[in-house]
Order: sequence, then structure tokens, then C-alpha cells
Amino acid sequence: MTEIRKVGVIGAGQMGNGIAHVCALAGYDVLLNDLSKEKIESGLATINGNLARQVTKDAITEDERKATLKRIVPAPALSDLGETDLVIESAVENEDIKRAIFKELCPLLKPEAMLATNTSSISITRLASNTDRPERFLGIHFMNPVPLMQLIELVRGIATEDETFDAAKVFVQKLGKSATVAEDFPAFIVNRILLPMINEAVYTLYEGVGSVEAIDNAMRLGANHPMGPLQLADFIGLDTCLSIMQVLYEGLADTKYRPCPLLVKYVEAGWLGRKTQRGFYDYRGETPVPTR
Ligand code: NAD
Repeated sequence: MTEIRKVGVIGAGQMGNGIAHVCALAGYDVLLNDLSKEKIESGLATINGNLARQVTKDAITEDERKATLKRIVPAPALSDLGETDLVIESAVENEDIKRAIFKELCPLLKPEAMLATNTSSISITRLASNTDRPERFLGIHFMNPVPLMQLIELVRGIATEDETFDAAKVFVQKLGKSATVAEDFPAFIVNRILLPMINEAVYTLYEGVGSVEAIDNAMRLGANHPMGPLQLADFIGLDTCLSIMQVLYEGLADTKYRPCPLLVKYVEAGWLGRKTQRGFYDYRGETPVPTR
């Protein structure tokens, strides 16, 4: 079975930095790539902050924090990933961008290296078919925030070989997480169920059935959800939510997945949630204030 020692992570955004964090904490050497040195530095700063919080909470020791950080090396060029055994792509949820990354990356990798994508919704089979190794390609779908969430969805493309899938299961175990296996259909399991609920919450707001506060309180107190759906949408990123709804709508050709026009409007405004300080809530002050 492919032994994984060195892991490349493409994209140092909210998911990519979390993936680099948990891989390094589990003892893997990690190479972290993004479009610029500044973006990688910003990802590393987030990792450092999150590790420090884990030390405060006694989840890890100060020595583990230092050793973990040391294991993550910036890799500003894709050619820096040539020695990796597994590359996890976690760039923006855009199929053209992901395809372009794999096209440039594949000739640079060892032939036996495994390739994975953290896509929330795009077809693994389609992404894999665009590479030189569809049999060593799969979906490793982490949940947000990566250091805290227990689940990883493993998604098999039509060509994924058993050896690759088994190596991924061992990898998940080594990260101390639990795997669930999903077939390669739009948005897999978690987002197939979660995103239509979030989209429906945005319709509920759009149609004036309730305010942001009323909708979130209703689901927190009435359905016992730890977070309201609009708060959760801001946390995921409204651009990511919209992309997933578009993939469901197009992939399953069913109007029940129609993205809410209000979600589209927030994305067009650049109000993408927490990452841009504004979404269904405004995060620029001390406490989040609903924007509707
Ligand atoms: P993000 O916007 O926080 O980060 C994306 C990063 O990718 C940015 O730093 C960007 O600079 C970088 N990037 C863009 N083009 C690139 C390229 N060509 N090469 C290298 N880096 C590039 O987004 P995110 O929330 O971290 O999402 C990343 C992926 O993870 C998406 O596929 C998304 O669907 C998936 N995902 C997201 C969540 C979530 O809750 N946000 C959960 C699971 C999976």
C-alpha cells in the first residue's frame, strides 16, 4: 500500500490551513501552497493561532505546537510539491481553477503519488479524468473547522483503485478522525443534506417569513441546532454555499435545488460571510449584527 509521509496542500485558505494543521500535528511533513507567499504566510499565522488555542485548552503541549509548525514548509510553486506522496487540493470551489491546478501539477509529481481534492461538491470522477492518474485520485472531504470536526468523507471516483482508497482510510485514521464513505454524486452526503437546508433558510429570509435573527433562533432553539443556518452559511462562506447549490441544481437537474436569488445577491455584493467580515451578519464590530 502507498505509504504517505509527505503531504502537499494546495490552498492556504480556511480549509487548506486546517488540513495542513491536522496533517502536521499527526506527524506528516507538509508543504503548503497558495497563489502568493503572503497568502501562505497568512495561512501559517492562522495555524499558529489555532495551535496556540489548543495549547491553552490543554489539547496539545507547547512542544507539540512547535514541532507541528516546524513540519509545515511554504511551497509557493507547484514544482515544490514534486516529492510528496499525497497532494490534497483545497483551492477555491471552481472547477476550471481546480482543473488548471491538476494539469500543471501532474507532470511534476512522482508517478505513484496520490491526488485528492477537498471539493465540497464537484464530481470526483470528472476531476480525476482530467489527470494522468484517475486510479490514484479520490475525494478527501474535510469539515470546517478542520482541527475540531471529527468527520472526513472519503469519495470514490469511478476509477479509484482499492489500494488508493485503503491508503486514504489509513491516512484518516492517523489523523485521529472518522471516515464515512460517500458515492460520487453531487455534494456527496453532508452537503447534499445541509446546503438545501441553508438555501431554504435564505428563501425564508427572502420571502420575509422571518428576520435573520428569527430564523437562526428558530433553528437553534426549535431544532436544537448548535448554530443557526444563516450563521452557519456565513461560517462556510456564501460563495462556497452558492457554488454547492449550483452544482446540485445542475448536477441533479431538479428545480428544488434552485439557489435563492438573495444568496446570489449577497455573493455579488462581495458579502461572503465571516471571511469578508460581512454576510448575513456584519462582523466588523464587537458583536455580529444581522444585515437584514
Ligand atoms: P478559501 O476562499 O478560504 O480559500 C481558498 C484558497 O485557495 C485561497 O487562499 C486562494 O488564494 C487559494 N487559491 C485560489 N486559486 C489557487 C490556485 N490556482 N493555486 C493555489 N491556491 C489557490 O476557501 P475554503 O473555504 O478554504 O475552500 C477551499 C475548498 O474546500 C473548496 O473546494 C471548498 O468547497 C472546500 N470546502 C470548504 C468547506 C467550508 O466550510 N468552507 C468545507 C469543506 C470543503
